[in-house]
Amino acid sequence: MGIDALAARLRAAISADQVLTDRQQLRTYECDGLAHYKVIPAIVVLARSENDVVAAVKACADTRTPFVARGSGTGLSGGALPHADGVLIVTSQLRGIVAMRPEDERAVVQPGVINLQVTKAATPHGYYYAPDPSSQQICSIGGNVAENSGGAHCLKYGFTTNHVTGLRVVTPDGAVVPLGGAAPDTPGYDLLGAFVGSEGTLGIATEVTVKLTRLPETVRTLLAAFASTDQAGAATSAIIAAGVVPAAIEMMDALSIEAAESAVHCGYPAGAGAVLVVELDGPAAEVEAQFAEVTRHCEEAAAFEIRVAADDTERQLIWRGRKSAFAAVGRISPDYIVQDGVIPRTALPEVLRRINEVAAEHGVRVANVFHAGDGNLHPLVLFDDGVPGEAERAEAVSGAILDLCIEHGGSITGEHGVGVDKARYMPRMFSDVDLETMHLVRCAFDPDNLANPGKVFPTPRLCGERPARRSDQAQITFEGAEVF
Ligand SMILES: Cc1cc2nc3c(=O)[nH]c(=O)nc-3n(C[C@H](O)[C@H](O)[C@H](O)COP(=O)(O)OP(=O)(O)OC[C@H]3O[C@@H](n4cnc5c(N)ncnc54)[C@H](O)[C@@H]3O)c2cc1C
Repeated sequence: MGIDALAARLRAAISADQVLTDRQQLRTYECDGLAHYKVIPAIVVLARSENDVVAAVKACADTRTPFVARGSGTGLSGGALPHADGVLIVTSQLRGIVAMRPEDERAVVQPGVINLQVTKAATPHGYYYAPDPSSQQICSIGGNVAENSGGAHCLKYGFTTNHVTGLRVVTPDGAVVPLGGAAPDTPGYDLLGAFVGSEGTLGIATEVTVKLTRLPETVRTLLAAFASTDQAGAATSAIIAAGVVPAAIEMMDALSIEAAESAVHCGYPAGAGAVLVVELDGPAAEVEAQFAEVTRHCEEAAAFEIRVAADDTERQLIWRGRKSAFAAVGRISPDYIVQDGVIPRTALPEVLRRINEVAAEHGVRVANVFHAGDGNLHPLVLFDDGVPGEAERAEAVSGAILDLCIEHGGSITGEHGVGVDKARYMPRMFSDVDLETMHLVRCAFDPDNLANPGKVFPTPRLCGERPARRSDQAQITFEGAEVF
């Protein structure tokens, strides 16, 4: 079936105004938050119900047409990049809160609900939704599920996967299946766990059951300024080693402070080489005791100024600097790459030094903003696309940063996903056997390879091909011994 016939089928099954084929309208959806990848989809479906998603996916399955789910389009790895011959199924209009059940500590929401809306709806009941990506004012819960998104407070509370207990999913053949439920765990294989973080490659979530977390009795936030990232890193390690688990420990280096300052005037201490934002929450007595300990560790690591937020306005101002950091970098550089990698916390000082060396070797600057508590780095590689060769050098630095993460026992992504952007780096972290095994999971859900093809996996793979046997692969080493 050609695209025109498919569009006609979709218009008949859904509604004419929800099916876009006009090139100008399609352009709106040509990229996500990673704007240097652009593809215009053949058709866009603006879903308003689960039935719309089912109708769109069934039409794709019948005609072997690839489809890509899109929530708010804030992804930073090109996960929602459309397929040129495919259908982009947009779930952002599915914005209903289906049920708010504080008595069960659960909320059931449609996938297009904005992350922060869940907290806003739960707050009057004394609850909130803990995962808090910096994009929480615009990103959707469906996107959060697909990316297993994190945020500043995931150090203490865990990532999206720890806060989703159930899903309704439209599988790539158009069936609707429940995965998990309201209970904390269900018997059998953890298919819910497989779906969370699968980046739209296993189907489309149409309903999400999330855990609600009780609002803490007390929240205390401090900003500590240091001369260097080494000192701030030492304070972070000392706090965690002392057994204190803050709700968040975020670090920003001098360049990212400069950017945030010029964008939102957050008033961070002048001359800081690094700042830590540390937040503690919980019962008042516990928070007070831990707060004293955190302050002591910052002082011992040579913090030259420690500010404690006196009220919610001051707390918001401290956070505004951190949360605006990505966008703020546009103030100090015309172009930048937002990198996302993970390292063990203890490797922070060494890896930050190496990042600066690699950047200097390539003649570009790197601003560092990160979730220091869990070692999730967000180096922002600055460049000017107008200067010949600078984009390529920035790209080289960005790749070298991922190599550093792998070398130090970390990962090529902490929370932004693999998408289209990092698929090429997957073989640096995983063997062919690993990738083949992941692909078998995908094939179990999507044998025709229709759901978000071209993402996550470095090379196109077909289901049903004989998986390579271990003996066909390069040798695998286990604790120094070679095994097959
Ligand atoms: C300024 C800024 C700050 C950010 N900060 C953070 C941060 O702190 N932490 C973090 O983790 N991320 C962060 N992000 C990245 C991004 O916001 C998250 O990845 C977010 O979860 C994407 O949600 P979305 O609705 O925009 O998804 P989209 O970008 O629309 O899609 C993302 C992926 O999800 C899939 N998808 C979308 N909806 C569904 C669905 N219903 N079912 C199945 N698959 C679906 C898409 O196919 C795609 O693969 C940030 C982005 C920006 C621009």
